Amino acid sequence: MAEDDPILICHRVVDLPIPYAAGEIRICTQGCLERVWVSHSSPRGPRPVCRQCAAVMLGDDPDHAMRLMDPTPRQIGELVRWLARGK
Ligand SMILES: [Zn+2]
Repeated sequence: MAEDDPILICHRVVDLPIPYAAGEIRICTQGCLERVWVSHSSPRGPRPVCRQCAAVMLGDDPDHAMRLMDPTPRQIGELVRWLARGK
């Protein structure tokens, strides 16, 4: 995979058992094989990368990578509706 592929930074399931938004479980494509959450509202193109791998790739601290993943108001709304349905 090319280094400049667009990536989608995702929370690992192990870190976030309940996701911020309704989504599906994918596998981190950076090689750690951790399960990650991909929100249904995320763009389809970028490959999912867990935030730990992304932090290494971006040469950044994990706290910054985490801030990139702050849920949008729309995602929070989705989560609320998703939880209200009882999954
Ligand atoms: Zn990873």
